[in-house]
Amino acid sequence: MKSMSGTEETLRRLAAVPSLQVSTCVPLSRYTRFGIGGPADIFAETSEVEAFIAAMNIARASGLDFVVIGGGTNLIVSDAGFRGVVLRFVADRLMAAGNRVVSNAGVVLQDLVDFAIERGLKGIETLAGIPGWVGAAVYGNAGAYGHSLSERVHNVRFLDNGQVRLFNNEQCDFHYRESIFKAHKEWIIFSTELVLTPADPDALRRTADDILKIRNEKFPPTMKCAGSIFKNFLLARLPEKVAAQVPVTAIREGKVAAAYFLEQVGAKGLVRGDIQVAGYHANLVYNTGSGTARDLCDLIDDLKARVRERFGMEVEEEVQYVGFPDRAS
Ligand SMILES: Cc1cc2nc3c(=O)[nH]c(=O)nc-3n(C[C@H](O)[C@H](O)[C@H](O)COP(=O)(O)OP(=O)(O)OC[C@H]3O[C@@H](n4cnc5c(N)ncnc54)[C@H](O)[C@@H]3O)c2cc1C
Repeated sequence: MKSMSGTEETLRRLAAVPSLQVSTCVPLSRYTRFGIGGPADIFAETSEVEAFIAAMNIARASGLDFVVIGGGTNLIVSDAGFRGVVLRFVADRLMAAGNRVVSNAGVVLQDLVDFAIERGLKGIETLAGIPGWVGAAVYGNAGAYGHSLSERVHNVRFLDNGQVRLFNNEQCDFHYRESIFKAHKEWIIFSTELVLTPADPDALRRTADDILKIRNEKFPPTMKCAGSIFKNFLLARLPEKVAAQVPVTAIREGKVAAAYFLEQVGAKGLVRGDIQVAGYHANLVYNTGSGTARDLCDLIDDLKARVRERFGMEVEEEVQYVGFPDRAS
């Protein structure tokens, strides 16, 4: 494919797409919960499928890099920002029919949880308080308290190279914090249909509220962070030697928290500039004020090296990198 002549031309073409809001030099720190990230050369968003498809086509043809983000709660964006096009699909419609709920990707996950609870639909109430939007929740198979969104996903509608496709649950290849969409970052989720189970709304509300209370203590809503930096481990996948060192008390639902290993290597309370590992949670790294991506990445690298040295294995980031050509996202 012939590539276009760069940012100016791409900007001109994007600006001509109806219902697409386009801006330049947008500080991505405004769009990340870490409050970190330099400018995006071009930032474009829309709630219209057609406009989004047109924008993606233009971005792909431009030869510029592009990335699609959601609520920015699981992102580390480089201090230098992003040389290319950052896109957001912000449609936020929710629809219910019987025990089925269809949610656009731009719906705030908590709004979907509340919507289901109000209708007496069980199955996603334990996801209460997980920040971010539904599209990324499908992408990363978000979950908490022993349940993941994938358990209730009936299908996912997404964009693949200009075509809208529909995958059933099996085709999405969901695993713990994984889906096929992570392996195909060019596929962009538009919506998902969930199948839920009728239940007492008051009981569901109580479950969600109890979880929210605990979560708000652990992750105060104003905390500039991404939740857990690293993925937890499935016990069955740990190297035998490492698994043998893990006390039974550190195993929950067949998983070992990355925090367990991080704690063993002295992660709690470590500091780099304005970036800090929480004193009460070794897998929680946050920005205490004017933290930089550089300090954040240095601290992450230090944590990874410590675990590698002590346990001979890698802790793997759950957070996604944007604007770091040398870091896998
Ligand atoms: C305090 C706190 C607590 C958290 N607790 C949990 C938890 O308990 N469980 C859990 O699972 N997560 C947790 N997270 C992580 C985060 O909330 C989830 O990963 C969430 O799903 C990210 O949503 P987002 O919209 O902010 O995505 P973003 O951070 O904007 O993006 C995340 C990734 O999704 C991709 N993406 C975004 N939208 C789309 C789309 N439409 N199609 C395809 N790809 C897309 C992006 O390219 C990026 O790679 C927590 C985060 C915080 C800050």
